[in-house]
Amino acid sequence: MPAIVEFHLGDVVRLRKPHPCGSYEWRVVRLGADIGLQCQRCDHRILLPRSTLERRLKGFVQKAGPEQVAGAEDKIPTKDERPKTKDERPRTKKTTD
Ligand SMILES: [Zn+2]
Repeated sequence: MPAIVEFHLGDVVRLRKPHPCGSYEWRVVRLGADIGLQCQRCDHRILLPRSTLERRLKGFVQKAGPEQVAGAEDKIPTKDERPKTKDERPRTKKTTD
């Protein structure tokens, strides 16, 4: 049974082969059909098909957990302010003779 590896943005992975700069560690910067990786030492970016990445993957150095995102909560204030549409025009009755 094949193991399904889940990647998340911000994960740091270790690959079996080092980048020419000498670093084994890459950060996941893009998810999709291809996984975008950024070298942790020289900031070089590559795109690898998921299957290729899974083959080269040695392990996770750091997993981007939900607790990492917890700090960035933006609350939208729920204002129940409806514009007043009540149009109170003073009625001026024109009296014509
Ligand atoms: Zn590198």
